[in-house]
Amino acid sequence: MLFGSIEGGGTKFVCGVGNENGEIAERISFSTTTPVETLDRAVEFFKNKGVQAIGFGSFGPVDVDKQSDTYGSVMKTPKPNWSGYRVVDHIKRSLNVPIGFDTDVNAAALGEAAWGAARGLDSCLYITVGTGIGAGAVAEGRLIHGLVHPEMGHILVRRHPEDQYEGHCPFHKDCLEGLAAGPAIEARWNRKGNELDDNHPAWDLESYYIAQALMNYILILSPKKIILGGGVMSQPQLFPLIREQVGTLLNGYVQHHALDSEINDYIVPPGLGSNAGLCGGLALARQALEM
Ligand code: ADP
Ligand code: ZN
Repeated sequence: MLFGSIEGGGTKFVCGVGNENGEIAERISFSTTTPVETLDRAVEFFKNKGVQAIGFGSFGPVDVDKQSDTYGSVMKTPKPNWSGYRVVDHIKRSLNVPIGFDTDVNAAALGEAAWGAARGLDSCLYITVGTGIGAGAVAEGRLIHGLVHPEMGHILVRRHPEDQYEGHCPFHKDCLEGLAAGPAIEARWNRKGNELDDNHPAWDLESYYIAQALMNYILILSPKKIILGGGVMSQPQLFPLIREQVGTLLNGYVQHHALDSEINDYIVPPGLGSNAGLCGGLALARQALEM
């Protein structure tokens, strides 16, 4: 069975064709421009490929409430021309197949649960630390939604006593994203993250904030696996630092071997590597067909 997958980012779109086992056969990538031009390119790619459903993991915020009048649209965003655009309708007009639509991080969480680091588990959390911070959660085998979709990147964290950086979130200034996303690292240290040494103090501070967030997510959702992806997490030294600080913060309160002797297998990079997004789209497509 063939599925189409769209990883719709604010900077670039990646489209792929794959199967029900999460195997990707073909892909294409192009810059995100206007909605019409960008989505037309995606439609063109899928034409005559015989896909039976398409999964679309989108940059957000997006309306994923099927009961809503504006389901399938991008909500208010600073990205020019995209606010209110009905992306699902655009694709449906040309390709009449079921479309699974969700946030990029929800898609990645579903893909990781199907074929990646959380394979075989009915719950996991996928977090991206990149230009922004976002997270998607699978609980009891399903993606979590509510009024809208969770926005776990904007939680409040305790500020490090020596951190003078004010934070860059336009809504909350020093929320998690404001203090720990890639642009915060760059603004605080005047260097891009990939230009900082492995033992730079930036990484201690970064793990200080991410570990607090993980502690909160563990206490609230009790996920069976935590997967950390995104550009900033390509710094491998962050993983041991984060695991250690999560252990310190939890201080033995939640008793489970996953959080103790097996923490190295609990807080992990994406099992699907850089395919997490595209595989997420395949998982959304598979789910759309089953519904
Ligand atoms: P996006 O979030 O836009 O989809 P990425 O996940 O690649 O894209 O995140 C981009 C952010 O991650 C930028 O702020 C960039 O500086 C940072 N980044 C990318 N690569 C690295 C790296 N190797 N080390 C540290 N930071 C990085
Ligand atoms: Zn915020």
